[in-house]
Amino acid sequence: MTQHYEGSCHCGALKFSYEGEEITQGLRCTCSICRRKGALMSTELIPLEQLKIDANPDDIGLYQFDSGIAKHYFCKICGIYTHNETLRAPGNCRVNLGCIGDLAGDELEVVVFDGKTLL
Ligand SMILES: [Zn+2]
Repeated sequence: MTQHYEGSCHCGALKFSYEGEEITQGLRCTCSICRRKGALMSTELIPLEQLKIDANPDDIGLYQFDSGIAKHYFCKICGIYTHNETLRAPGNCRVNLGCIGDLAGDELEVVVFDGKTLL
């Protein structure tokens, strides 16, 4: 059964919503950027066309490195990282579960993704 999820950055300038599977787990990736962010991400890969972004395009920051395939999006006002297009499945993204207000993030099972050795 799909659920409707809504999230936002801290200041609210960047909002997103999508329909996806129920969130029962969070993904923690060990790659060089995720390690620094410490964000718990969705385990589900969400097709980009299913993620609705509600923001002024000028407020959306984009960070890319190395191959430039992965795209890390953040709010330029408050700096919060909201979602990223993944390196391994271009066209799909993961969202920062911390941005989804009504999720009890500390109750989610954490899956560790070994991005360090794969990247
Ligand atoms: Zn913001």
